[in-house]
Amino acid sequence: MAKRRLLICYAHPDDESFGNGALIAKYIHEGAEVYYLCATDGDVGTIPDDMKDQYETIRELRLAELACAEKTLGFKLIRMGYKDSGMQGAPENDDPDCLVYNWKHNPEDVKRRVVETIREVQPQVIITFNKYGGYGHPDHIAIQQATIQAFHAASDSAYLTDGLQPYTPQKLYYSTMPKWILSFRLWWLKMRGEDVRHMGRNKDIDFQKIVDNIEPAHVSVNIGAYLEDWDEASACHISQGGGSMRGFFARWPMWLRRVVMGKQGLTRVFPEPVSEGISEHDLFENVTLDEPQKEPVS
Ligand SMILES: [Zn+2]
Repeated sequence: MAKRRLLICYAHPDDESFGNGALIAKYIHEGAEVYYLCATDGDVGTIPDDMKDQYETIRELRLAELACAEKTLGFKLIRMGYKDSGMQGAPENDDPDCLVYNWKHNPEDVKRRVVETIREVQPQVIITFNKYGGYGHPDHIAIQQATIQAFHAASDSAYLTDGLQPYTPQKLYYSTMPKWILSFRLWWLKMRGEDVRHMGRNKDIDFQKIVDNIEPAHVSVNIGAYLEDWDEASACHISQGGGSMRGFFARWPMWLRRVVMGKQGLTRVFPEPVSEGISEHDLFENVTLDEPQKEPVS
């Protein structure tokens, strides 16, 4: 039987586990192939001082954590190898090897590499960030824009990639989060007198904008049986805190977490949904399973 193939296009080592750890575990457990296209090596991530002695570079540490998540969840990793660009306005934005610099100055190269991945992997379903990159990280926004363009270019026979046939992925989703939970958190932060426009360790997270940019979900996938896998994969990225949301929810009893977090919603971008609200419970619903076409273009 033809395989179900899911491609996740995100920016950093940890985006896959923090955002989709349970979802990845579920689909792999159910026999699908899951590929993670990781655009950067996470070179600019802030890490705790006591971890600095264990690795030569932050990049080395982040890749070791990613390898741990790959082993834990069982996805297939494809690295683009760009440097992490840091947050908006960081000096690393101007590094010619970083993703944001390349997306600004050589967008065609970045797009072509995503098209090549789509044609190579032949996923029926693709997931990327929303237009705000989840929380405004420039790398997230860059890979989101490149993925959207590549999603459409991959099927265009006039768009040539060396030795790879055109391929038409069938569905495209944005990751999303329940707006009510984040709105509640926003309200709580405001009540506590926090400056919600300047949150996080580096005061560069605009929580109001995160909430404003959340798009509604059209699919709700039951991930309740995979929350432990999610925790395990998130724990691989220990230098990044194992995920602050995860840490918060990790204190809850598992039965309560399954009630609150047992379903993951995603926004369907293509094909455009015909109605509002949840209309699907599986990313592969209405997908035609095709055999991979591996013959190169003649
Ligand atoms: Zn990220």
